[in-house]
Amino acid sequence: MDPDGESTLTTRVQQRLQSRTCGWCGTLIPYTGRGRPPAYCSKAHRNRAWEVRTAERRLQRDIATTAATAEPVREVITETVTHTQTRVQTRLDRRPPDTARAWIEHLAELARQLREDELGDQHWTHAKLYRALADVMNALDRAHPGGLNRLLGR
Ligand SMILES: [Zn+2]
Repeated sequence: MDPDGESTLTTRVQQRLQSRTCGWCGTLIPYTGRGRPPAYCSKAHRNRAWEVRTAERRLQRDIATTAATAEPVREVITETVTHTQTRVQTRLDRRPPDTARAWIEHLAELARQLREDELGDQHWTHAKLYRALADVMNALDRAHPGGLNRLLGR
């Protein structure tokens, strides 16, 4: 006995792992008390957890080195719309001009094509064009009272 009447109370707390859940499936795994406590219930679940961890590490490394992106996948889509317009040309449109005004427009277009378009370079057609125009002049000469001389004020 302690002569001063003092007493000492000692409390000793000891913890001992009884079980832990599998890091993959959550199944309760009893711990035997020997060796390192198991983190997974089976080798298959240990492997699956390792695959996920290493894949995550590879992804983070690729993102860090910009070999991979964390951005969402984007698509660029082109759209082609084809409009088809069908124009029906009536017989009336293909009739030759029958007024002086319409002929003047046609002849002005012929002159323009001779000056600006390939018709001016198609030399083998020019003699035929000349004869056709000369025939027109002859017709005009005969049609007008006094002929071309009167028209030109001679
Ligand atoms: Zn498991």
